[in-house]
Amino acid sequence: MREFGYTSVADVGEALTALQEPGTRLLAGGTEMLNWLKEGIERPERLVDITALPLRAVEPLPGGTGTGSGSGLRIGALARMSDVAAHPEVARGYPVLAESLLLAASPQLRNMATVGGTLQQRTRCPYFRAETGDLPCNKRTPGSGCAVLRSGETEEHALFGWTEECVATHPSDMAVALAALDATVLVEGPRGARRVPAGAFHLTPEQAPPERHTALAPDELITGVEVPGPAPLSHYVKVRQRASYEFALVSAAAAVELAADGTLAAARIALGGVAHRPWRLTAAEETLRGVDPEDGGAVHTALARDFAAARPLPGGANGRGNAYKTELARRTAVRAIRDASRRDAASGAGREGSLS
Ligand SMILES: Cc1cc2nc3c(=O)[nH]c(=O)nc-3n(C[C@H](O)[C@H](O)[C@H](O)COP(=O)(O)OP(=O)(O)OC[C@H]3O[C@@H](n4cnc5c(N)ncnc54)[C@H](O)[C@@H]3O)c2cc1C
Ligand code: SF4
Repeated sequence: MREFGYTSVADVGEALTALQEPGTRLLAGGTEMLNWLKEGIERPERLVDITALPLRAVEPLPGGTGTGSGSGLRIGALARMSDVAAHPEVARGYPVLAESLLLAASPQLRNMATVGGTLQQRTRCPYFRAETGDLPCNKRTPGSGCAVLRSGETEEHALFGWTEECVATHPSDMAVALAALDATVLVEGPRGARRVPAGAFHLTPEQAPPERHTALAPDELITGVEVPGPAPLSHYVKVRQRASYEFALVSAAAAVELAADGTLAAARIALGGVAHRPWRLTAAEETLRGVDPEDGGAVHTALARDFAAARPLPGGANGRGNAYKTELARRTAVRAIRDASRRDAASGAGREGSLS
């Protein structure tokens, strides 16, 4: 491992000043950064530890009704994943967010990892993560090609938003829930503060060169996220190769509102594992109005327009392609919508009274 400097900062201004120095990278929980150092993905001159910044609180947005989350929540960028998931306002008002966090990583990792770091985590594409670092990967070494497209090992890659340069997906579970909740990422930098919609924070290769992962500039800091709400009728479904400690093959976050007759009055749905950003099913959000969420066939049909835009990847000699993901993602969305609609609107509890 190369040598690098280490320092820590106590306020946001100090962090922004430190970021002006070329070769500076931020360190939060370290659960991604330490791997990147070992794999040679990052070679910083200096790590700036931001864990002492006063950005850990989970609090109601101003204008709310006392202690509740009536007008939404602000979650600090240094809040730990486990603390956010366990917060009573999150569990009651935003079950989809709590579930997305609890289904991510492991308890040990969630006790270290932060909200800002979770948003800034990078693709799990094995060629991007390879320890040798000399395999073709446009995300890691611009212009070197894409080993996934060359080999045809496309099974776990994107259905939407990909290009011939990169077909990677973004892995954050929490980002998918935030996109379905219409959350906002709060950013500060030398040009001032700005607000980025959570669904637009991660960038597909259609939007920016593959080496650009998110909308955050190198001299900017995430200070937190704001979640409007609450959204008690919400749910996260994660489909993966094994039941724990595994990234999503596909996932779906749904937040719904019901009419008096039990049909869908409104629905917001985002998919994970299908693009290099959470993929909102915007057409379905119109076609689902008036549909009975218990009628799986009708919900499946209402999703057709969004899935018609999917572009499955062919497999090569070494792979079978990822066409299977189209139907898997569609059924995952159907289940997320159904289970969101079955929640208790007052407590956010599922039918069995638990969070999952
Ligand atoms: C084995 C394993 C399994 C995992 N499984 C899952 C999973 O199933 N689902 C899932 O969603 N995640 C999973 N993760 C990823 C995990 O969520 C991330 O490692 C973690 O969230 C990163 O947070 P951190 O605070 O440790 O970030 P760090 O490692 O400290 O930093 C990561 C990046 O974020 C940047 N950063 C951190 N905070 C800020 C800030 N406030 N502003 C700007 N930049 C910032 C850092 O500079 C760095 O670039 C897994 C990780 C591991 C190691
Ligand atoms: S899919 Fe993207 S991250 Fe993976 S090898 Fe190709 S360019 Fe690299």
